[in-house]
Amino acid sequence: MKLFRALKKELSGLVDFIFPPVCPLCGKGSVDVAGVSFCRNCLADFSPLVSPFCTLCALPFVGPQESDHYCGACITNPPPFSSVTSFGIYEGLLKEAVQTFKYRDKFHLGRPLGRLVAEKVAERHRFCPFDLILPVPLHRRRLQERTYNQALLLAETIGRHLAVPVNSALLRRLRPTPPQQGLSERERLRNLKGVFGLAEKIEGLRVLLVDDVMTTGATARECSQVLLRGGASGVEVAVVARAARHF
Ligand SMILES: [Zn+2]
Ligand SMILES: [Zn+2]
Repeated sequence: MKLFRALKKELSGLVDFIFPPVCPLCGKGSVDVAGVSFCRNCLADFSPLVSPFCTLCALPFVGPQESDHYCGACITNPPPFSSVTSFGIYEGLLKEAVQTFKYRDKFHLGRPLGRLVAEKVAERHRFCPFDLILPVPLHRRRLQERTYNQALLLAETIGRHLAVPVNSALLRRLRPTPPQQGLSERERLRNLKGVFGLAEKIEGLRVLLVDDVMTTGATARECSQVLLRGGASGVEVAVVARAARHF
């Protein structure tokens, strides 16, 4: 068995030498280990979320603001979650990567994207105060169409990095929601009322809720409310990308 493992390692080293692993996004740039990271060029083209942004919902600020602070929406209507950690801004190549991951069957992008989020979460929450990681659920019907839940793939990578258990059965989407694109936050929230449910109580647990993108924040608000009503002691949110403007 030992010999077999050593041989396998040697052989994979040889394969990597003959066919160097390439970037899972552009298919051109080289990466050290296949499937877990993007090439340097793609990484440089992603828009990272950098200050100034809203310290609560991670909304990037454009204009003269210099430091991080709460955005108007978080002041007038405080969200139920305690923070949002986003790797980047939902634009350009990062938007393309997320859409390819989500809609074009490129589920293997979940690992490198999840890793970027995990590193950001570890940086922000140094002591990793989470008991549980929950992905935003897809409705059964949507899952059958897409065959995978992109939020769960991200959550699994994040869970492995942070050594926190992931549960994809606790938070459920009880009925399908019509597409949310083009709707205001209020309309989205109305659409989402009663959509999510908890399979069991999660008394006193601190939850990291994972999704691919945050646009208006309506989904994160609704899920967080359900989790808090179910006994969660706090909910933090992590996403790959945050939309700069509310659509
Ligand atoms: Zn690349
Ligand atoms: Zn905000």
